[in-house]
Amino acid sequence: MTSARSRAGVSFKIFGSSKTKMATNQLKRYFLNKMIDFDDAQLSKYQMTKDVLKKKVLEIINRIFDRQRTSVHECDGGLYVGITGVAYMCYYVGLREAFDSYRFDWLEKAEDYLNKVIAYIEHPRYRGEISLKSSFLLGNAGIYSTSALVMNELGEKERYDTYINNFARLACVMLPINLLKNGSDEFFVGRAGYICGALNLNRHLKKEIIPLEHLHELCKSIVHSGRRYAQEHQSPTPLMYAYYDTEYIGAAHGISAILQMLIATPNFLDNHPDMEEDIKATVDYLVSLKLPSGNYPCAMDEVDSPRPEQEELVHWCHGAAGIVYLLARAFLRWHEEKYLQACLDCGELLWSRGLLRRGPGICHGVAGSGYVFLMLYRLTHHTKYLLRAHAFASFLFTEEFKRARTPDSPYSLFEGLSGTACFLADLMYPEKAAFPFFNVFD
Ligand SMILES: [Zn+2]
Repeated sequence: MTSARSRAGVSFKIFGSSKTKMATNQLKRYFLNKMIDFDDAQLSKYQMTKDVLKKKVLEIINRIFDRQRTSVHECDGGLYVGITGVAYMCYYVGLREAFDSYRFDWLEKAEDYLNKVIAYIEHPRYRGEISLKSSFLLGNAGIYSTSALVMNELGEKERYDTYINNFARLACVMLPINLLKNGSDEFFVGRAGYICGALNLNRHLKKEIIPLEHLHELCKSIVHSGRRYAQEHQSPTPLMYAYYDTEYIGAAHGISAILQMLIATPNFLDNHPDMEEDIKATVDYLVSLKLPSGNYPCAMDEVDSPRPEQEELVHWCHGAAGIVYLLARAFLRWHEEKYLQACLDCGELLWSRGLLRRGPGICHGVAGSGYVFLMLYRLTHHTKYLLRAHAFASFLFTEEFKRARTPDSPYSLFEGLSGTACFLADLMYPEKAAFPFFNVFD
C-alpha cells in the first residue's frame, strides 16, 4: 500500500470492528499457520533442497517472461510495480552461482525491459511528476541505478556512464529540505530512497560511486527536516516526518525506513554525534510503541487509538515486517538487548500472522514475511528461523495458497512474483540473503 488513502481504505472501509467481523477479518488478512506449534524436527519436512528451489525459481521466472507485458502502463511504477523491478530481479537472481548459465540471457532480458522504460521517461511528451524524477522506488533514480547495474554486467561502458551520471546528479537535486510538497524524506520518493539506491550501487559496484560526503549532506537534510517538523508539530520525539500529512511509522512512507537509512550510511553517526543522539532517541520511542501483538501502529494517529488487534497490518509497507529492519540496524549499531528482543517479537508475530492472503510478494505478501525469517537467521544463527523461511516458501506451492489474492501487478518486484523469485533464490544462499535494498548486514 502506498498512500494515506489506501491505508484508510484497508483499515476502515473494507473491515468493520465488531467481534463477528473481527473473526472474519482474521481469515481475510492471513491464512492460519497450521505449523504454528511445530518444533525444528517437524519443520524440517518443509525444507526444500537447492535443486528444488532452483526449479521453482526457474518456473517462476519463465512465467514472468511469458506473461509480463511491456506496454507504456508497465513502464510506470518504477522498481515497485513497474518492469524496472522485473529487470532488477533478472540482475539480482542472476548473481547467484546456481543461475550462472542463465545469467547472460536474463541480463539481456533486463536490458529489453529497461530500454522500454528509458525510452518512455526520456520521451519529450513524458510528464512524470517532479516527485518521480528523483524517486528511487517509483521513479527515475531507481530506473537509472538499475540500468547502471545491468549495463555494468553487460560491459556497456558508455551507457553505464550515462546512467551513473544521471543518478549521481540527483544527489544535489534532493538536498533542499522542502523539495517535495508532501514530504521529501520517505523511502518511495524521498531522500531515504535515494540514499538506499546510492548505497546499493556502492555495494554492488564495490566502489564509492556516490561519494559519502554527498550522502552525508543528504542525511543532514533528513535530520534537519525531521527536527523542524517535530518542533512545529510538538512531536514526542526529536525527529518526525509526514507524507501527505500522515506521520507513517512503517517502511513504505514512514519514519522507520528513514531512520534505517541514516544508520546505514557509513560513518554518518560517528561523524555527527548530536544527530546520532536524536536518531537513537527517536528509535527508542518507536520501540516503546510496540503493541501487545509485537506489531507497530501504521501511523502516529493510531498511537492513542489503536485499531483492534485482528485489523493490524503485518506487512513490509506498514507493520512489523518492515520495521524489523530498523530494529536490526539499531541492535547492530547500539547492541542493546531491547532491540534484539523487538526483532524476535516481530519474528513470532510473522510466524503466526505472516501467511498473508494478499499474494506471494514482498510488500504485503508471504515472501515479505519469509524474508523476516531469513534476516533473523543471519542475525541470530538459529536454525529455527531458516526452517520457518522454508516453511513459508513451501506454503506458496500449496493448494490452500491458490486461494490467495492475485496482486494488481502480479509479476512485479514488490507486489508480485519477481519478489518471490528473489526470496526463493535467497533461500538457496541464506548466509547472504537480504530483502531487496534492505540488507542490514552491510
Ligand atoms: Zn505493501
